[in-house]
Amino acid sequence: MVANIQYMPTLERERHVPQLFRSTRGEGSGVSLRKAILQGQPPEGGLYMPQHLDKMSPEFIRDLPDLSLQDIATQVSSHFFSGAISEKELRKISETAFNFPIEMPRLEKKTHLLELFHGPTAAFKDFGARFMSQLLARELKKPNGDERPLTILVATSGDTGSAVASSFLNIPGIRVTILFPYGRVSELQERQLTTYGEDSNIWTLEVDGTFGDCQAMVKMAMQDPDLKEPVRLTSANSINIARLLPQSFYYFWAYGQLQARGYKGDVVFSVPSGNFGNLTAGILAKRMGLPVKHFIAATNLNNIVPEYLATGVWRERTQVDTNSPSMDVNDPSNFDRLKDLYGGSYKKMRREIRGTYFDEGEKNAAIKRVWKKRDYLMDPHSVIAYLGLREYREVTGFEGRGVVLMTAHPAKFADTVEGIIKEPVETPHTIQQVKKKKKDSTQMSAEYQDFRAFLEDNKDRL
Ligand SMILES: *Cc1c(COP(=O)(O)O)cnc(C)c1O
Repeated sequence: MVANIQYMPTLERERHVPQLFRSTRGEGSGVSLRKAILQGQPPEGGLYMPQHLDKMSPEFIRDLPDLSLQDIATQVSSHFFSGAISEKELRKISETAFNFPIEMPRLEKKTHLLELFHGPTAAFKDFGARFMSQLLARELKKPNGDERPLTILVATSGDTGSAVASSFLNIPGIRVTILFPYGRVSELQERQLTTYGEDSNIWTLEVDGTFGDCQAMVKMAMQDPDLKEPVRLTSANSINIARLLPQSFYYFWAYGQLQARGYKGDVVFSVPSGNFGNLTAGILAKRMGLPVKHFIAATNLNNIVPEYLATGVWRERTQVDTNSPSMDVNDPSNFDRLKDLYGGSYKKMRREIRGTYFDEGEKNAAIKRVWKKRDYLMDPHSVIAYLGLREYREVTGFEGRGVVLMTAHPAKFADTVEGIIKEPVETPHTIQQVKKKKKDSTQMSAEYQDFRAFLEDNKDRL
């Protein structure tokens, strides 16, 4: 019976077994949703994946034009978690998490911009971080004998840290420790990361190193047996399944919006990619039945994935600094999931995902051109996906609808874009306030020992 569960029709299964999560590496039997989100990452390495990934019903896909993002979030998450958490609770979580707008203006005749930056920190990471914080807060309310505060570790190249901090601010029983590479994030990002105040549950470490160093320190802490006892740790990088899943909701929504506007043909999504969480979530949406023709994985000069898709070779190299720092990633943390979804075959992967990359000159010229011609200002990350779609149309002759994911508001990278268009950029009201707040952060070397000492010294502070 148990061995056959994979092959039972969805409804049958939903009534019997809640979703479990397995490691992309392990053979293990799978862990509960609670364990997967509290642990973040399986102890033996790899990343959590759902044991079953069935399609949503055809009626759901048909009704998308009439559904709000919150409706979609409720239905997709209750399908994905199948029975691990009630639909009623998921509705509450979705409504609390997504309390900001999502928009999709049309830039050119067949090109739509999916603006994901209207949340509190002006980047798409608000979607994942806010949903995850609600899920975690719910788990922590249940008594289970472990009264220690939960410490959430986040390595950030800018946008993740602020989204996580803003989502978890003042959530009882949780404290957040953010590591960011000092001097390598924009001025506004630095302010967003470091102005929560001494007495808040958000602690920020300015690391004398790269984003890769920050990521490595978090990974080491998560796997450090000596830390298990004193501190209860989890990670909120996009490797946490609770952050990944919500990024699939807006693919459904965007598709529904195209349908609502009377469009019935092929749709491709172009995604500016760094750690590949956003793109992986799109592939999950497709596996759940969203009829997407192709995904475009667009990177900056840190192009390990586009190269892999072209050659099948995973060629490690050092990280290159660009003016799209949230995509300066040389070892994408979600890639194990993508490999898993395609059974390790890059040939299968490239049937659905087209890789491409652009250099600094191409990006800057495009930002300027779109601003001049269309009166629309793109941030240095989103513009890469826009270029990716244009190239895709040229190479393949595609004439259907393209949806370009706009991952950050250009004002987050004001210095860069002002340097390109030679005009001042207006800061949205929501992120303006941080400019006035007092900075509070701790300097840290890139040595793991120093980080560990910090965690141990602060284990009792809440
Ligand atoms: C994080 C981020 C990306 C990259 O997203 P991944 O899910 O890591 O691929 C792109 N643009 C912006 C603005 C980001 O903050």
